[in-house]
Amino acid sequence: MDYLKRANEIKDEVIANRRYLHQHPELGHALDNTVCFVKEKLIEMGYEPKDCGDHGVVALAGGKKPGKCILIRADMDALPMKEESGLEFSSLTDSAAHTCGHDTHTAMLLGAAKVLKEMEDEIPGTVKLMFQPAEEMLTGADSMVKGGVLENPHVDAAFGLHIFASLPAGRVLYSVGPMMSSIDIFEIRVNGKGGHGSQPNTSVDPVVIGSHIVTGLETINAREIAPDATAVLTIGCFQAGSKFNIIPDSAFMSGTIRTFDNDVRAFIKKRLVEIVEGTARTYRANATVEFHGEGGALITDPETARIIGDSVAAVIGAENVDGSLPPISGSEDFAFVTCEVPSTFFVLGGCPVDYPAYPQHSPQIRFNEDAFVNGVAAYVAGAVGWLESQAE
Ligand SMILES: [Zn+2]
Ligand SMILES: [Zn+2]
Repeated sequence: MDYLKRANEIKDEVIANRRYLHQHPELGHALDNTVCFVKEKLIEMGYEPKDCGDHGVVALAGGKKPGKCILIRADMDALPMKEESGLEFSSLTDSAAHTCGHDTHTAMLLGAAKVLKEMEDEIPGTVKLMFQPAEEMLTGADSMVKGGVLENPHVDAAFGLHIFASLPAGRVLYSVGPMMSSIDIFEIRVNGKGGHGSQPNTSVDPVVIGSHIVTGLETINAREIAPDATAVLTIGCFQAGSKFNIIPDSAFMSGTIRTFDNDVRAFIKKRLVEIVEGTARTYRANATVEFHGEGGALITDPETARIIGDSVAAVIGAENVDGSLPPISGSEDFAFVTCEVPSTFFVLGGCPVDYPAYPQHSPQIRFNEDAFVNGVAAYVAGAVGWLESQAE
């Protein structure tokens, strides 16, 4: 089958599905209507979609011929904000908007599902379609991995894609190796003993201890990780006290860690806890650390990235595919899959015509719907191409 030609033929249907999803955005795991829509469309195509995790959907294509299993993923959630794109199919609610383009991912994966179903008998193995919730909360992929998305059948490789309005429409870019950073959000509480500002000896001052902790944490980057390892540790919030002559009982800090290496990430988290607890103990206080919003670095497997990248290039044209994308310092919860299975990830250009290229999450953002043809073709070509490479 000519995937690109078929993707072109179903373009209007992909756009119609996208516009419906765009008008009806939902947040996080609360995707009842979206899940219903996706399952209905899959059933119409002849699939038997299954629920997975907290509001995820899985469906299988192929399996008629023996072979391995590859997973392809789209995320479905929107953001809690008001849309200001001026599009005629703008969000019908002020409390949610698809400003990250996940509506386009869902519509493109539905388009790929249609093409894959039509050629099901020829697929040398199985393609598992993963429609995930709550990417923006970094909890959706995790809930599906825990819900068994990588088993029955066992997934041997995986890839996802993300549209970006800032890149030329229809271009597919990827990195070999580190592609998107890990994320960890931490909260530190220093528990001292409050007192009068004139008699600090009767108190245990959490402001001074917190300051030592900040300085101590700075030495992780400066003195404990290799010069060529890229990591960021930022404390964006430090709160304590209410008045000039009162030593407060406690201090609170929160911040974030980003890396492109999951071993560096683990080391920094371990040292953060040691420095916080050790410093507090040194100055007669105690301190606690809590981590939230955790996600690993998205690292593509070089061999998988090359095979899938070449398969996509063969269909949409080598001039439209670039495997030398530098790492991006944002996070992507598909890393919950890439940490488990050899994977790759694509960035799809979606720059609009005669309209500014707004950054992701901007209320004014628009995406170029012409890019969907290459997106659908990339999903199909990447999945089938990888299965063919394993069957040879
Ligand atoms: Zn986003
Ligand atoms: Zn996104």
